[in-house]
Amino acid sequence: MIHAIFGRRYTFSAAHRLHSDQLSVEENRLAYGKCNNPHGHGHNYVLEVQCAGEVDAETGMVINLATLDEIVHRTVISRFDHTNLNLDPLFEKAVPTTENLTIAVFELLEPEILKTGCKLAKLRIEETENNFFEYSR
Ligand SMILES: [Zn+2]
Repeated sequence: MIHAIFGRRYTFSAAHRLHSDQLSVEENRLAYGKCNNPHGHGHNYVLEVQCAGEVDAETGMVINLATLDEIVHRTVISRFDHTNLNLDPLFEKAVPTTENLTIAVFELLEPEILKTGCKLAKLRIEETENNFFEYSR
């Protein structure tokens, strides 16, 4: 069996405000700086999904690209694109930092990708050209 990793990038745009109900106004300002601005701000996120699996003997592929696109659009892009992350039930109690977003997206995608016979090897979200977050199990 030959194993390989297939990676694909997606983009979506969303707004968030970094604010914790556990912290005071001053503590929030110190922790999050201008990201605590009450009106929020937006990012053009770049999502990178890496699937690991066997290279199919007949197709020569780890996962069908169209299948992965359908999964990512259905579970992630349609849910978060052009939304306010703070209003998503996933962030009712968790601050929508990109660390928490990366883990939430991983948990949404993992069971769907497992159904194809592949594993979700690693997930990466770029928040800005300088900041990126990665998660794997
Ligand atoms: Zn931000």
